[in-house]
Order: sequence, then C-alpha cells, then structure tokens
Amino acid sequence: MEFQTEARQLLDLMIHSVYSNKDIVLRELISNSSDALDKLRIESLQNEPLRGLWSDPAIRIEFSTEARTISISDNGIGMNRQEIVANIGTIARSGTREFLTMLKSKSEGGQPLNADLIGQFGVGFYSTFMIADRVTILTRRAGEPEAWQWESTGDGTYTIEEASRAANGTTVTLHLKPSDHEDAIHDYADEWTIRRIVKKYSDFVSYPIRLRTEKPATDDDKNDAGGGILTDHGTVIRDEVLNSMKALWTRPTSEIQPAEYNEFYKHIGHDWSDPLRAIHFRAEGTFEYFALLFIPPRAGMDLFSREGSHGLSLYVKRIFIMDDAKDLLPSYLRFVKGVVDSEDLPLNISREILQQNRQIQLMRKRITKKVLETLAELRDSDPEKYAAFWKEFGSALKEGIYQDEENREQLLGLGLFDTTEGDAKSTLKEYVEKMKEGQEGIWYITGENLGVLRNSPHLEAFRDRGHQVLLLSDPIDEIWTGMVTEFQGKKFQSITRGDIDLGSKEEKTEHEKERKEKTEEFGPLLGAIKERLQEDVKEVRIGNRLRSSAACLVADDNDMTPQMEKIMRAMGQEPPRSKRILEVNPDHPVLGKLLAMQSNNVSDPQLEDYIDLLYGQAILAEGGDLPDPAHMSRLIAQLMVQA
Ligand code: ADP
Repeated sequence: MEFQTEARQLLDLMIHSVYSNKDIVLRELISNSSDALDKLRIESLQNEPLRGLWSDPAIRIEFSTEARTISISDNGIGMNRQEIVANIGTIARSGTREFLTMLKSKSEGGQPLNADLIGQFGVGFYSTFMIADRVTILTRRAGEPEAWQWESTGDGTYTIEEASRAANGTTVTLHLKPSDHEDAIHDYADEWTIRRIVKKYSDFVSYPIRLRTEKPATDDDKNDAGGGILTDHGTVIRDEVLNSMKALWTRPTSEIQPAEYNEFYKHIGHDWSDPLRAIHFRAEGTFEYFALLFIPPRAGMDLFSREGSHGLSLYVKRIFIMDDAKDLLPSYLRFVKGVVDSEDLPLNISREILQQNRQIQLMRKRITKKVLETLAELRDSDPEKYAAFWKEFGSALKEGIYQDEENREQLLGLGLFDTTEGDAKSTLKEYVEKMKEGQEGIWYITGENLGVLRNSPHLEAFRDRGHQVLLLSDPIDEIWTGMVTEFQGKKFQSITRGDIDLGSKEEKTEHEKERKEKTEEFGPLLGAIKERLQEDVKEVRIGNRLRSSAACLVADDNDMTPQMEKIMRAMGQEPPRSKRILEVNPDHPVLGKLLAMQSNNVSDPQLEDYIDLLYGQAILAEGGDLPDPAHMSRLIAQLMVQA
C-alpha cells in the first residue's frame, strides 16, 4: 500500500534529514508504547472483557548485535488493520502542509533540520527511518484475535499481512542502517547505548522498561542466576528494569535539578528544546494535588487550530487518567504543558464530570494564577526571554483579555505592544508612566500592518504633541479593544474615533473658534464633498488630527472599524454597512486649491474627480481597500498627464 502523500513527504524528509540527534528515535518508540499501555488501562476500566488483559504492563527492549536489530515491545492496546493504516500510513493532523513546507525550506541548503518541529508534530514513529532501513510492526489489538505485520523500507510504500502474536500489544523492530559516525548513527544495537538513552530520556516513564541481555554466565551465575535464565550454551539471559519510574512531580522541589525538569518537559512535551520556565507546586489542604507545568519555548503548529489540543494531563494518585485536560486551564493558556496529579479524585473520573466538578474549578483558578504569576515574574526578571515568549504566545494570551474578566487587569499587564516611540514593545504600565500631563486615556490605533500604522495620518497630531500611541496590528487586537474599556483606571481610546483635540482647555476654546471660521470659509466645498461622497461617508468636517495630510477617515464611537468588518467577512458574516466621517485639513494646500477651483466655477467637472482622489487618498493612507481601484488609477493617470 502507499503512504498518503503528506506522510510520504515527511518520511522523505526524515530519511534525508541531517539532524544529528538520532537518539530520540528510541524515546519516541518508548513514549508510543507508554501511551499504548495508558490506553489499554483506560479501556480495560470501561470495557469488562478487556479487564483480564491488564496485567504486568511493561515495555521491553531486545537487541541483536549480530543481526543489527533492536525491538521495542509493549503489552498495550495494539492496533487492528484499520488502525495501522489510519495511524501509521497517514498523518491526520491539520496544518500538515504548512508544516512540510516549513520543514522543506529549513532542510534545504544543508541546514540541520530543526527537530523540535518534528516533535511538535507528533510524527515520532517516522523518525525510526533515520536510523533504520527497514521497520516492522507486529501488533494485535486488545480484544481481537488477529495480529498484523506491517513493514516498510520508508520508500513510500508498505505491506500489511496477517500474522500471529500470542497476546495483545505491539512490537516495533528496527533493522538498523550501518553505523556511521559522520551521519551520527551510533550503534543502537548496543547495550550501553540503549541504557544511556533510556536513562536520559525515559526515566520517568511510569511503566518498567526492561532490557533483555544475554551474557556469558559467570561461575556465580552457574550457582545462582538470581532471576536470570541459564541457557544450554552457557549464557545467562536477564531482564533488567532501566528506568526509575519515579514521578518527578511528587519529589520536593529542593531535590530536583534543573536538568531533570528539562528532560521531563522534553518527554511530556515531545520537544527537543528546554522549556522557558518550569512551575512546580503542591497544593495542600482538603484537596491535595501536585502540579508540574512548563512554559514551552515555542508555539506548536496547532496553537490556533480548532482541533489543537491542550497541554495538561490529569493523573490521579500517580496514575495517568487523561491528556488534553481542557478543564484544568482556560483555553488561552492551552500552550502550557504539564501534569496535574490529584490525591482525591476518583480514578474513573470522566471528562463530563470534570467539567462540573467544583474542586476542578478551584484547581483551575489556582493553576491559572500560578501561570500568570510566573509569566509576570519572567517579564520582570528576563525581558528578553519574555519578549520571545510573547512573540510565540502573545496572541493566545490576548484571548484571555476578553475571556477572563477575573484576571483581565493582570493579562493586560502581561501584554507587550508596539508603540509610536521606538521599535521595542512596551507594557501598558510603561505606557501609563509616560502619559502626558492632561492625557486621560490610553491612545491606540488598530490595523493590519505595523508599517502602515506607523505612517498613518491619524497619528500626526499625536506625534506633534508627543503623545505615545499603541500600534495594534494583531487581528485579535481588534477584538479585545472592542470589549475591554480600561487599564489601571485609564480608558482605552482609539485615535480613529470621535472628535479629538489634544490641546489645553484654552487651546481647545481657541481651536473651536478657528474651526467655526474655517467651516464657514470652506462651507460650500465641504457641502460639495459631502454630496459627491454621500454613498461612502456620513459627514465631512474640519478636524484637529491632521498636520501634513489633507484628509483622513474617522469613526463615531460606536461604529465598526473597517478591520472588524473584514474579520466578520472572514468569518462568513456580512457586517452592517457603516459610513465613516471624512476629516479634512483646511491648512493643506489641496483644500485651498479645491476651494479656489470651486469659487471660480461651481460646476467645474474636475472638482468631482479631485474629491474622489481626496477620498481615495484617505483610504490608501490607512491601508484600506479602494472601492474602485480602476477608477482611482485612471484619475491618477489623468492628473499626471495634466501635470
Ligand atoms: P504520535 O505518537 O505523536 O501520535 P506517531 O507517529 O509516533 O505519532 O504514532 C502514530 C500513531 O500510531 C499513534 O498515535 C498511535 O495511534 C499509533 N501507535 C504508534 N505506536 C503504537 C504502539 N506501540 N501501540 C499502539 N499504537 C501505536
């Protein structure tokens, strides 16, 4: 049979990857086996006939130096034919295509393939082809009589045939490539290599990982093989447990080395890099639990996909209950990975019960608080690392700003935003500290593109007066700014809404007087503009925002912004049609010219063209879409010819 196209491409990348750490192959297989055992335990709780199959759960490793093979077996859930095809032959994840393109672009030009990416995508099994030129899987689904043998050389096809296996579970056998130091393929069919790798990557796996060794029997062995089996040809075979199985989270924090946290994170997070922070605590009292959480260094590919999973696993008294435990953390913290182990919940707790459980709600509150505190600490102690964190996860965290009222102020405080001052992002606290005398609100402007925002005509008066403005170019900014009104008692205020005057009280009175005069002076022109643009704007007025531009578009306080309209359209909803206000700058020479033109000849046909140009310019300056680009470009061409 053929692998699905995406799977084939991925395989290809794996085989040709120049990634040097091939040790992780073993870890991936052990982790798959551990998952398979977890699945059997859970199914055996719910499914009476499977109950008898849950005994002496273990992962076994065997190797042969002569045959150059290594195999990893488990007595877990196993797979039936259909499951093999679905789980091994295809990649059932969203975003695969983008992932592949990214991998490809990274692996070209001999760049080492970034293995974190591989791990995030859970393509663990395919990594076997980095060290093996042939892989077989012998597997039998728990509760089913047939067994299956799958085999592939990683060339894009595989075979499946019926086979036999005494009990449920899976054995993956790797026929190793020749060891080659240049390509960093160690000899994996080697006892000490295996011991080292298991100890390093899989020590916490909660099932025994047994290594089978065969050695010449010593005299002592011949008297008493001590658990080993003496063979006829003078050797002794032993199964030795390699891992400590100690749940890291139950150990006192003072005894744990940072390296142990890091390895544990890599194990549960399927990651190759160290986490940004580990959060480890024990809640005591009437409801006891351990929590060991990690802030990953990078966002997974599925952070913003609907099927994306949450990163916490729930344990009860050291026993794995479920992963993707959505109720333990709000969804905006779905990137946090880790383990929560309760002393008091029943073992058979279901997702439905979790949702309603009051204790779970309390846990969730406490865990959320801990994560937010840790992030605040990271922000204050290591701004550079925090900036990297924000770049990866800021957009997710911003969902919390409008979803989590209780922690809103804190979440706003965690935000990093672009501003009109400098290239570095600013916190809101820093913004508030820099506010000008008499400045009441937190000024912001939203848009799709930071570059466009930086040059927006709306900013002119603010620059002039030295007021800092937040430049919000993340689509989600449009959403939270529409729902959240203040930070530290300061109101968020859009600079593209309403009538704005930054002057002092006296200046404002002065400006009002001037505006009246100008409105009178430009009255006929304002009227003509309004008439020409009546389909597009609801008002034309003299404003105080502009310095060097001729015109800009502003909204009333309750109007929808053009970005919000776009977001609605992207979600398949037609927003109500809203008209904005055109603000013009009477001191701009264009306005003077137009006024002169009009008083020369009220029905000058060029006047209408110029009004269209004025309006088009205002749209272009804010990075908007012209209603009729062809018309606009004709007008510009005409203008050039006349010039
Ligand atoms: P992941 O483990 O991240 O899902 P893999 O490529 O390593 O990705 O494995 C793909 C799937 O194959 C697993 O999700 C699982 O359903 C199945 N699988 C792999 N190994 C085993 C095993 N030892 N026992 C049962 N199923 C397995």
